[in-house]
Formats: sequence, C-alpha cells, structure tokens
Amino acid sequence: RLEAIGLKRSFGGRAVVDDVSLSIGAGEILCLLGPSGCGKSTTLRLIAGVERPEAGSIALDGATVCDQRVFLPPERRSIGLMFQDFALFPHLSVADNVAFGLTGSRAEKRSRVKELLDRVDLARHIDGYPHELSGGEQQRVALARALAPRPRVMLMDEPFSGLDNRLRDGIRDETLGLLKDEGTAVMMVTHEPEEAMRMADRIALMRDGRIVQQGAPYNLYNSPVDKAAAAFFSDIN
Ligand code: ATP
Ligand code: MG
Repeated sequence: RLEAIGLKRSFGGRAVVDDVSLSIGAGEILCLLGPSGCGKSTTLRLIAGVERPEAGSIALDGATVCDQRVFLPPERRSIGLMFQDFALFPHLSVADNVAFGLTGSRAEKRSRVKELLDRVDLARHIDGYPHELSGGEQQRVALARALAPRPRVMLMDEPFSGLDNRLRDGIRDETLGLLKDEGTAVMMVTHEPEEAMRMADRIALMRDGRIVQQGAPYNLYNSPVDKAAAAFFSDIN
C-alpha cells in the first residue's frame, strides 16, 4: 500500500504540485487525470523519488520512504516506473535489459525473464538487441523490465501511448491484469477519460497542482465537483 500525504513541489516560486494526498491499496489501480501541465508527471516523480518534495511524506506498507528527515533513493523504494520515454540499454540484449533490476541466481533470473517475455509475446527476441526491434516491441521489453522485480507499486506515465491501436488495448489489459494478480498498487497517468473510466478502481482528477476530486469512476462521472470536471467526462457515452 502506497500512502502519500501533503506533497508539495515548486518551480520558480510556483507550486506545480500543491498539497497532493493519494493512497493506493495492493492490487488497486488509480488513474491520475487532468489537463496538460497540471502536475501529473511531477507527482509521479515525487513518489518515485527522482524529485524531492518541499513538504509531505510518502510511506510504503507503513514504512516511510520520504519525509522531512528521510529520503530513500528510487532504487530502494520497491517502486517500478514506466514512462513514455522508456529507453532500453542499447548495449544490452533483450534478456539482460529485462534482468537488469533482478537479483538471484542466473537460472532464477533467466526463468523470470522468459516468463515475462512470454507474457509480452516477445520470447523469440530474448537474445536480440533493442535496435533489432520495432518501437512497439521495445516498449513491450521496457514493460517486462519494469515488471520483472515485482515492485509493490508501479507508476505509469502514459506508458501505452506510443503503441498502435491494435496492440495497445491488448498490452494494456494484459499488463494491468498481471499487476493486479501480483498485488501491485498501480498509479497510471492517462490523457483519456474513457481509458480511466474503464481501467481504474479509483480516479483522481488534478488541476493546477491540486487534486480536485477523487473517487470511484462512476462517482466522478455521476457527481462531478464542478463544470470543468463534468466537461472532462462529457465525451464518454
Ligand atoms: P502533461 O499532461 O503535459 O504531461 P503534466 O500534468 O504531467 O502535463 P508536469 O510535467 O507535472 O505536468 O508539469 C507541471 C508543471 O511544472 C508544468 O508547468 C511544467 O512546466 C512545470 N515543471 C515540471 N518540471 C519542471 C522543472 N524541472 N523545472 C521547471 N518547471 C517544471
Ligand atoms: Mg506529464
């Protein structure tokens, strides 16, 4: 379980994340929605630990990973990241890319890598290199890499937006299903209200650095806090 309380971060005197509190349970999917520039990616970066908050705290399964005194670096947080710019290591094989964050024996690592490449339907490329793969295939390798160490929390910043439509829904559903099965708490940024409505257990709507509404998809749809929130969902039928 991830618990973030009162996160704040400013750039040039402007708070781009302002008193943001979020919690996500094991196996739960929270979708973060909001207009461009409202602070979604910054919120994810704060939780991941690649950015430091000026205020607030973050706890994972009850253990503080960040507050005014504690600051664990990203690699010690058991938080997986899937961002749009998913860059693989070009000099490492597909297998070594996926195995990158893994510990254990060679055989254990190899079997986890195989399992994951099977799931993203790329087992035949296990000994290939990133430059031999298409963009969509590289993205699926990045997915497998993020899933490999079984992080307790997965943060996803529009991770499926680069995929073509035909692949997109399948890979998204497969990935989210896998994360749910493994009891991972998922936070996913998306631009598409429709996607959030379909995939999320809860939606958090953000504007100007603040969470303006948070709840079950049908709650936001049926009882939007204001006109702007209503407009967000108005295209969905
Ligand atoms: P989008 O949907 O376009 O990805 P977003 O909601 O993810 O937008 P953020 O990337 O979190 O938005 O940015 C929020 C605001 O903070 C923007 O106005 C952005 O210019 C500003 N910002 C983010 N990072 C920095 C930085 N390192 N230095 C200065 N300003 C920044
Ligand atoms: Mg962003």
